[in-house]
Order: sequence, then C-alpha cells, then structure tokens
Amino acid sequence: RARESSGSSYHFFTADMHDRVVDRLTTEVALFRGLERGEFELHYQPKLDLRTGRVTGVEALLRWNRPGMGLQMPDKFIDILEQTGLIMEAGEWVLREACAAMRHLPLSVAVNVSPRQFLHPHLGARVMRTLEEINFPADRLELEITEQIVVEDEEGAIETLHDLARRGIRVALDDYGTGFSSLQRLKRLPLHTLKIDKYFVMSLVTDKADAAIVHSTIDLCHQLGIQVVAEGVEDDGAMRMLQTFGCDVGQGYGICRPLALPALDAWMAAVPVGPKPA
Ligand code: C2E
Ligand code: MG
Ligand code: MG
Ligand code: MG
Repeated sequence: RARESSGSSYHFFTADMHDRVVDRLTTEVALFRGLERGEFELHYQPKLDLRTGRVTGVEALLRWNRPGMGLQMPDKFIDILEQTGLIMEAGEWVLREACAAMRHLPLSVAVNVSPRQFLHPHLGARVMRTLEEINFPADRLELEITEQIVVEDEEGAIETLHDLARRGIRVALDDYGTGFSSLQRLKRLPLHTLKIDKYFVMSLVTDKADAAIVHSTIDLCHQLGIQVVAEGVEDDGAMRMLQTFGCDVGQGYGICRPLALPALDAWMAAVPVGPKPA
C-alpha cells in the first residue's frame, strides 16, 4: 500500500490512451494499404520569380485521400510515414509522380525529403535512377530538406549534399529560422536555396523585428551565393516588401494555393510561365 500511495510508480492505462493507441495502429494499417491502393495525390504550389513576375517552379505537396475520411493534410500522416519507414516508398512515389507530371512544362519541381529518406544511403544515386527512368533533367529538380537532417548526422548530410550538387540536383533548406539555424552550419552546407519560414513572412508587414530578420537573411544568403525563397506570402503588402528587400522567389496563398493538377493547369494558363523569353 505504501507504493500505491507514492502515485508515480503506477501507470494507469486510461480509455483515452487506449483510443489513441488504436487510432494510431488503424492509421498505420490504412497508410500501408493506401500506398498499395494509390490513395495519395499531389497538389502543386507555384513559385513566383519576384523580379520578373513569372512562375518558374512548383512545390509538390502530398495529400492522402483516406477512405471515408476525406482529403488528409500532411500533418495528419507524414510523421507516421516517417516513423514506420513507409516514407521511403511514399517518397519515391512523390518524386516519380511530381517529375512525370511536370516533365512537359518549363518549370523546376521541388519535392520535400524527410530526414529518414535523406539519411538513407545512396540518396543521390537512387534519385538519379528514378529521374533517368522518367527522363527528367536533374537540374530541374530541387529537394527540400530541413535542419533536422543536419542535427542527426552533420558529416553524412554534408557528404550527401556535395554528392547531390555534383549530380546537378539542387537542394533547398526549408522552414529556415524555426530550428537552431546556426550560421556556422549555414556556412558549411552546400545549398542552392534557402526558404524563409512562413511565420516570419506572414508577419512581415506588422512586425518590425520579423522584417529585419527577413531582410538581413536575404542579404546574408546573397553574400553566400544562396538563392532565397519566401514561403507564406499571403498578401500584396508582404510581396512588395520582399521585392524591396531583393528576395528572389515568393510562394504563398497570396500568389496561389496548392492546387491539384487540373486546377494548376487552369491557373497557369493566365500567368507568364517559365524563364523569360530571350
Ligand atoms: P513545407 O514543405 O514547409 O510546405 C509549405 C506548407 O505551407 C504547405 O503545407 C503549404 O500548403 C503551406 N502554405 C503555403 N503557402 C502558405 C501561406 O501563404 N500561408 C500559410 N499559412 N501556409 C502556406 P502542407 O501542404 O500542409 O504541408 C505541410 C508540411 O508537410 C510541408 O511543409 C512538408 O514539411 C510536409 N510535406 C508535404 N508533402 C511532403 C512530402 O511529399 N514528403 C515529405 N517528407 N514531407 C511533405
Ligand atoms: Mg517544402
Ligand atoms: Mg516550409
Ligand atoms: Mg513547414
């Protein structure tokens, strides 16, 4: 009885915990089946060159049509894909699907790569094999990674980044500013692009500190030879400010929401697309 009163030595498996475990297992099984049954789809969000006003690329964003539950956003399932290792298969599908869909358009294609995918051996060689199979040029692909990969294995990550660069595959550091964002690290990583996290960009117009952070990050990147993308561009005010700061590329709801392929085609019919004609 003495132990009982100490409280912390006893764990109670409550009904609520039981529900969560069952929910999680059900989702894992459903994801596994969903991959087999082709329940995933990609939405594409355009990236706008802020100097020319032309659309020069898209980012592929994963969606899951879960039977009976509607279209699921990544926050509902990406972590589970990652933890179960299903992300390897899902990621391969995303790469193939996105590049095949954009093959005939004069656009770059950005694909998000999770830490597990990135740290798996021979990433560069595996990506090249897929690109060759579908006949997609390496220099039109951009892989979006997060600082998490560097936290897990900095030397391995740097080696992989050099390998990708040698193959002509560009890499963007996503969600910049939310992690540890060490400048030492930024200096060591061979990056093509840096994406400033949307939480800085969304408050650009109203928050002087965020404006200062965004402006100086753009200048720093340009001095390091890194291109800058601002994500979360929601209105004209933010867009104009980014243009004044010399930001290269904008992406956000204020330009265009992520769209399924037919809607993207319709949207792009009305805007200038691809590099500026000579
Ligand atoms: P991310 O790569 O940083 O993608 C940007 C997210 O911001 C997307 O959310 C996009 O819809 C959203 N967004 C774009 N513009 C705006 C805006 O103006 N305002 C606001 N508030 N949000 C905006 P989404 O599609 O829900 O994706 C969330 C995250 O899931 C992505 O963040 C990425 O980390 C992950 N993800 C998506 N697709 C994949 C994938 O194929 N593989 C992996 N590993 N991760 C993915
Ligand atoms: Mg991304
Ligand atoms: Mg991001
Ligand atoms: Mg994000």
